[in-house]
Amino acid sequence: MDYEDKRIKLIERLKKRDILTKPSVIKAMLKVPRHEFVPEGAIDSAYIDSPLSIGLDQTISAPHMNAMMCEALNLKEGEKVLEVGTGSGYHAALCAEIVAPINSSNPGHVYTIERHKNLAEKARISLRKTNYETRVSVIVGDGTLGYEENAPYDKILVTASSPKKIPPPLKGQLKDGGILCIPAGSREWGQDLYIILKKGNEFEVEKVSGVRFVPLIGKYGFD
Ligand code: SAM
Repeated sequence: MDYEDKRIKLIERLKKRDILTKPSVIKAMLKVPRHEFVPEGAIDSAYIDSPLSIGLDQTISAPHMNAMMCEALNLKEGEKVLEVGTGSGYHAALCAEIVAPINSSNPGHVYTIERHKNLAEKARISLRKTNYETRVSVIVGDGTLGYEENAPYDKILVTASSPKKIPPPLKGQLKDGGILCIPAGSREWGQDLYIILKKGNEFEVEKVSGVRFVPLIGKYGFD
């Protein structure tokens, strides 16, 4: 079975579980070649619904988690997105496929921050190879500070688990009406995924489900 067949089968399974429902997210997951973002030794597992090691004790999240977060963010063409935790670059490519599809007359952009320089460099290579390099900017730094240079953002996603107190810069850099999708809780276990909607100076918080992510390390994260 080739990679495209495997990808189609994975997406069918996620649709059956009602994890994937939005046509724009389904289209993006069908388009972005996940196998180009995983280490060579893990390529045969690229279309299994499981997180995979990408080195430096970090992971590319399981596809159902990518799907859940993209759906929760309600991404639209033209939006400006900030991702904290580039990892492999796969989730950033998925977001770019939705907010800045090729030939869009109103392309959005994805800014993604990674604290590990080596991972950022590998992600850049994968994004270049898959033709997302002009739609995704990879920045090396502490994403708990957000990325003030291009704020405010329509949507912000964090792919590492924050302490219960959400990093204030991320809430501050969200547009009015914007959505922040972030796992938060304890460092290892007992984390939940939250959807936070900004309404003026107020924030509406919805708990989605229990999750398990690597910790968010930084000034407003864990030590
Ligand atoms: N979104 C990624 C993907 O598609 O492969 C998966 C990300 S992995 C689960 C979490 C990433 O967050 C790791 O690469 C980790 O180094 C990074 N990270 C943790 N704390 C960070 C911080 N303060 N700023 C930026 N990146 C951070």
